[in-house]
Amino acid sequence: MKHSVRLILLGAPGAGKGTQAEKISAAANIPAISTGAIIREAIATGTEMGTLAKSYIERGALVPDEVVIGIIRDRLQADDCKDGFILDGFPRTVPQAEALDQMGVEITDVLSIEVSDERIVSRMGGRRVCKACGATYHVESNPSPAGDKCGICGEDLTIRKDDDPAVVQSRLTVYHEQTEPLKDFYAKKGLLKIVEGQEKLEDTTALTFAALGLN
Ligand code: ADP
Ligand code: ZN
Repeated sequence: MKHSVRLILLGAPGAGKGTQAEKISAAANIPAISTGAIIREAIATGTEMGTLAKSYIERGALVPDEVVIGIIRDRLQADDCKDGFILDGFPRTVPQAEALDQMGVEITDVLSIEVSDERIVSRMGGRRVCKACGATYHVESNPSPAGDKCGICGEDLTIRKDDDPAVVQSRLTVYHEQTEPLKDFYAKKGLLKIVEGQEKLEDTTALTFAALGLN
């Protein structure tokens, strides 16, 4: 690669950040780091952090800043991050973004994937996740090749508790209040790029790659 990419993906819950993060990760050969996935794994294995985070996640609230900042600080030390990385779901608040600055992390691109609230609500009902390996699918837009089993590991697919419609509403409110101000934060640094989320996954991917100069 010509230069390293240290990318932040912004966007409402269900906007498709995770899916695009995986595509970029494969194309640019850099890790996609999802705080949501790290937290869900901690919940599944029952660590202390997981137990603390569980009550927040399940009601659609954000996990406290100091917890996720600690997760990211540790994760970015790993060897695989030295040539770049994609942050999916971090930062989600201005204090988290300030913490990244304080760690001396130099972000090269910030991409916001924009999808209307209405479309998010209708999409979330179809999301399915593999509890075993973390792969995510959508019954219509990104179905598992193995039906109601995971196409990667063959385990049963499940619906996340926080994809319940009432919880989705509170997550959208949290997004508008706490995360959307980050668009201004990064626009002021000249880093913000906007991608309109498309009906078809691959169309969004094409716009995302174009915005990042990947192909
Ligand atoms: P989505 O992108 O669909 O919102 P995530 O997997 O990114 O799903 O996040 C799920 C949940 O994990 C969030 O609703 C929140 O409770 C918690 N979480 C993830 N990242 C952060 C973060 N940076 N700060 C606070 N809470 C977080
Ligand atoms: Zn799986």
